[in-house]
Amino acid sequence: MKDFNTNSFVRKNILELQPYLSFRDLNEFKDPVLLDANESAFGELNRYPDSTQKNLKRKLSVLKRVPADQIAVGNGSDELIDLIIKIFCEPNEDSILMMNPSFAMYGFYATVNGNKVLLLNLNENFEIDKDEFLKTSNEGQPKVFFLCSPNNPTGNSVEDIEFYIRNFNGIVVVDEAYIEFSDKKSCIDLLKKYPNLIVLQTFSKAWGLAGARVGAAYSSSEIISLISTVKAPYNVNSLSLNKVIEAIDQKEFVEQNIKNTLAEMSWLNEELQCLKSVEKIYPSAANFFLVKFEDVEKVYAKLLENEILTSKRSPKIPGCIRINAGSREENSRLIETLKTIA
Ligand SMILES: *Cc1c(COP(=O)(O)O)cnc(C)c1O
Repeated sequence: MKDFNTNSFVRKNILELQPYLSFRDLNEFKDPVLLDANESAFGELNRYPDSTQKNLKRKLSVLKRVPADQIAVGNGSDELIDLIIKIFCEPNEDSILMMNPSFAMYGFYATVNGNKVLLLNLNENFEIDKDEFLKTSNEGQPKVFFLCSPNNPTGNSVEDIEFYIRNFNGIVVVDEAYIEFSDKKSCIDLLKKYPNLIVLQTFSKAWGLAGARVGAAYSSSEIISLISTVKAPYNVNSLSLNKVIEAIDQKEFVEQNIKNTLAEMSWLNEELQCLKSVEKIYPSAANFFLVKFEDVEKVYAKLLENEILTSKRSPKIPGCIRINAGSREENSRLIETLKTIA
């Protein structure tokens, strides 16, 4: 890893790209007259948001103990996934590697960018086979490996993540969208050790701010600077930036949110276990369960009939539905409906 040279993995056109720089955002002024951006002088949201997102990065820097120049902020982590692929993967030439099953958006953005998607099939306990990983990455030479832990839609964490970071000749993106629910440590702690690592986190799950569309990437300052170069200058709006800063300032809220969700997860687990229609509940380190039913079509149809929306993963994951923890009232309605199935 010592010899890792970020730029040797970056597309040429991206290396040569001049970032759009907002003079206003890159300098400090005491009492500026702003006549530089063709904005309106009137209204509540008349100004462009800070393109460098420095206030949020300052907060995140303290919260995550990472220098601010190692943080990028995106319009959800979805945008960051898209940007990472655009930075490293030459269209119609390069490929990405992802676990299967895992979060569909990696494959989606890769396909939009004209990149092949190599699938790393998980075993029956949804674990990675290390030999399979080495074989697929050596043969296919993918540029980016998306490692989701805890994994969506299976719910389990990936063990021995460092093995994959060490043994991948390219960029490893560890997507930690559900890390707050897990008892595992964040891979942010590994950034000093591995220059090919990007950690993604989001405000959409534990923080309860899916509507704000804010995600963050933590990586080397080189990779973060590439993300800043390719992103749309005003990619996160000022309402969302302020909301997220507010949420960080009221950390008890997120802590309570996580506690409540985990309490609902254990309630759901117990209730689901008592149901005849349930064949298996896969262990989860996230805010959802992957549940295997004896008659998945019947269960899914019954839930839908009662306007209870869940995520059917069958036939890709045979017999399985992904169900996230809701409020106690919502979870009770789910269980009551499932009880009516013979
Ligand atoms: C929900 C989720 C995200 C979050 O995406 P946002 O764009 O930040 O809302 C990212 N990765 C995974 C695996 C997810 O399940």
